[in-house]
Amino acid sequence: MFQKILIANRGEIALRVLRACKELGIQTVVVHSTADADAMHVRLADESVCIGPPPSRDSYLNIHQIVAACEITGADAVHPGYGFLSENAKFADILAAHNITFIGPSGDHIRIMGDKIEAKRTAKRLGIPVVPGSDGAVTDQKEARRIAAEIGYPVIIKASAGGGGRGMKVALTEADLEIALQTASTEAGAAFGDDAVYIEKYLEKPRHIEVQVFGDGFGRGVHFGERDCSLQRRHQKVWEEAPSPALNAEERARIGGICAKAIADLGYSGAGTIEFLYENGEFYFIEMNTRLQVEHPVTEAITGIDLVHEQIRVASGGGLSVKQEDIKFNGHAIECRINAEDPRTFTPSPGTITHFHTPGGLGIRVDSGVYSGYKIPPYYDSLIGKLIVHGRNRVECMMRLRRALDEFVVDGIKTTLPLFRDLVGNADIANGDYDIHWLEKYLAGEE
Ligand code: ADP
Repeated sequence: MFQKILIANRGEIALRVLRACKELGIQTVVVHSTADADAMHVRLADESVCIGPPPSRDSYLNIHQIVAACEITGADAVHPGYGFLSENAKFADILAAHNITFIGPSGDHIRIMGDKIEAKRTAKRLGIPVVPGSDGAVTDQKEARRIAAEIGYPVIIKASAGGGGRGMKVALTEADLEIALQTASTEAGAAFGDDAVYIEKYLEKPRHIEVQVFGDGFGRGVHFGERDCSLQRRHQKVWEEAPSPALNAEERARIGGICAKAIADLGYSGAGTIEFLYENGEFYFIEMNTRLQVEHPVTEAITGIDLVHEQIRVASGGGLSVKQEDIKFNGHAIECRINAEDPRTFTPSPGTITHFHTPGGLGIRVDSGVYSGYKIPPYYDSLIGKLIVHGRNRVECMMRLRRALDEFVVDGIKTTLPLFRDLVGNADIANGDYDIHWLEKYLAGEE
């Protein structure tokens, strides 16, 4: 087991990882920018190292500084959290070259899944169902027209290097195709330095369902069930739940089994998420994330298993603490992402939190790094906390969520709490009857 883990992240996830390390008796080092000197995880860590000024590229993305911090403090492993360097293959390779363990998969696996065209090809080879579309990158209009006609409109043009919902354009008919191809490719070039794009069938009313997987480092793969993250705004998840209200036990076992086998065949090590769109009883792979997800706590709530403990165990060579048959699903869990944003326009609302009161009671978990008097720096993403609620079934979970949202107080800034208070009283949400477009329509007053 590791003696000392360096946490290369900030905010709620840095605290989340720190808690797991403390439970396992592992010393912790956190790195932080000058803007985060007062952060909770900095206060709670055994050691902290300031690695630079506020902009992420000078601090949380500065590989040299982070490696230097490992060497100075004698950390033997790095947990990257999510975002920042968590899916940076070069970072994983550099750590390996310095004999520091990256708590995540190999650089090669990150590389395959980071390139969406390559990821889709790999998924197909491993027997995972994919969205019908081009086999690889599409460069000329003629080829695009041929493929689109073959799969049928509408189609979506996606950036191979894409992420965070950027670089995607929908073409409803052939008349839109030329512009969609051009803009997606130009946007991708500007945002990711790689203008390769590919074409997929655009699914009109899918749900977003993702499967939590783990490779144990010894060639075995398991799945921890699915999460339904269909409630999205601008392709960003807002509310996540497990299990999906749309799946039955047989479908869950089928898709879970396919994913676990793929992970084993790939020789993957650590945590991963295989994302699908789900429509008319069919699953379509869209991408795989090679890291811990923001929404991992809903899986922890229904399985009772600490996924960060498992990541650390696997990375240290100790394997998983559970086999597939030990993973049992119990009840229902929902996570609400509480952002420092206007609940209608979603414009960021940094500033000082004058009062912060979190709900409690049975089945309530709040993962947050903020506190009364905390000043939210304007440099990073606006997630300030996650409310995760568990109940024996979805009805009980929703009752508890409504009560917990009533108790939650964040004063001094705007947050997305009022949006969740509205959603929890909505009939479609109560019935679990929503697809990936539902929230946008609701916000536009159409639902
Ligand atoms: P990113 O890595 O940028 O998040 P994804 O491929 O995961 O991109 O897609 C993000 C979201 O975009 C999905 O959750 C879904 O809402 C939408 N999307 C992606 N592909 C399709 C598709 N083929 N049809 C319909 N919607 C799609």
